[in-house]
Amino acid sequence: APSIVWFRDDLRLADHPALHHAITRGAPVVAVFVLDEESPGIRPLGGASLWWLHNSLRSLTASLGDLGVPLVLRRGPAESIITEIAASTRAGAVYWNRRYGQAERDVDTRIKATLPGSDCDAQSFAGSLLFEPWTITTGQGNPYSVFTPFWRACNAAPLPRNPYPAPTAIVPWPGQVATDDLDDWGLEPHSPDWADGLRAAWQPGEAPAHKRLHDFLSDSLGSYAEQRDLPAENVTSRLSPHLRWGEISPYQVWHATREATAGSPGKGPVRFLTELGWREFSYHVLFHAPHLATENWRPGFDAFPWHPLDETALEAWQRGRTGFPLVDAGMRELWRTGTMHNRVRMVTASFLTKNLLIDWREGERWFWDTLVDADPASNPASWQWVAGSGADAAPYFRVFNPQLQFAKFDPNETYVRANIDEWGTDAYPAPIVDLADSRRAALAAYEQVKGAK
Ligand code: FAD
Repeated sequence: APSIVWFRDDLRLADHPALHHAITRGAPVVAVFVLDEESPGIRPLGGASLWWLHNSLRSLTASLGDLGVPLVLRRGPAESIITEIAASTRAGAVYWNRRYGQAERDVDTRIKATLPGSDCDAQSFAGSLLFEPWTITTGQGNPYSVFTPFWRACNAAPLPRNPYPAPTAIVPWPGQVATDDLDDWGLEPHSPDWADGLRAAWQPGEAPAHKRLHDFLSDSLGSYAEQRDLPAENVTSRLSPHLRWGEISPYQVWHATREATAGSPGKGPVRFLTELGWREFSYHVLFHAPHLATENWRPGFDAFPWHPLDETALEAWQRGRTGFPLVDAGMRELWRTGTMHNRVRMVTASFLTKNLLIDWREGERWFWDTLVDADPASNPASWQWVAGSGADAAPYFRVFNPQLQFAKFDPNETYVRANIDEWGTDAYPAPIVDLADSRRAALAAYEQVKGAK
């Protein structure tokens, strides 16, 4: 009886616990990916994510193909598709690596309840996080709401396991399973094809992810701690979309970083691993607050007096025409390349939520649609962190001044010039708000929720 390996947001072969256990089980393998946009509560992917997914699936299909295993592609509700494939192949096992969103967990729970009825072993494995969210608790057994003690607790927990090696051989199941054609899914944009900037900036897939990690560890880790806040310097790893889609696992990143710096820990590696810790923290928060993308993590923020939506201001922000160069450079970088430097994400998010008093959910949705690393945990957690409504949030009254941030983090204007063609000419727009007035308005609005939990 074959083993089904259900690929989800773990589009890799090495350090794939579900695949590893399927191979160890000894039976032939059926590899499946389901694009599920229909199950209750599933959040449809944004445009940039669909582009990434298309290319990542193409890459996974090729590497599985090298081992003689076809990747079965199906689109629809995962529960019925997986149980149908398990029945038609008379599978003895269905294995997958865990996801942490509520809707995804609900799907998995239902499948786990159904399959054993047909003598099929359904098992899930830890592959996408270093620390399962429910294993890290405070002394009182509660979830953490502050990063530093959370990460301290992670570091006191047993060390993350070693990565599983890449499989050298997989026995394919000799039967046929109906599959879609990836190109028929139409995940890549056409008329208009807006993905040229993405193609120029990124190469989705497992091998490119490892190359990026390798280049980062050899070229940039040493200067990471000092330069990670400078958008023009390009010292950060740019691993986020690869991690988002699981083309590389956090176990691989964690161990490779420790090995590369064995004997000389230094500030760079500690800082870099701490950023991976923020990814873990975001998932910890999402696991315990499933509606993170739509509801304030701090309920007291429900009373926050956001301005009625000003579409013109929102669009000026989205398209990088606010008249504040660092904000505009970031928003244009995002639109063109599907990413934005972390420092600039903070500045643009602060500008939207504080200087424009536009609800963080508008910004979260825009990032969800345009980021190649749009992540169900890190995106809403970070937005809420900036907005002041989230876990361990920056205090609301700390309003970034986008001009001071520009002077401090892009002192030579390199980043701004690279992203704003008309920078320095009359064609560049005038500021859409007064910084001092809008800051005062933000602080006054905050007074209304200040005391609330
Ligand atoms: P590096 O500095 O090389 O960090 C290594 C890895 O650690 C990253 O690849 C990422 O997986 C993780 N990481 C780093 N910083 C954070 C953080 N603050 N929170 C969670 N994980 C982190 N990150 C996403 O992966 N997806 C998102 O959708 C996302 N949305 C964001 C929205 C806002 C408003 C803000 C302020 C931040 C957001 N981030 C998001 C976090 C961060 O900006 C990106 O992870 C980072 O810029 C990715 O670049 P890098 O891979 O070069 O990071």
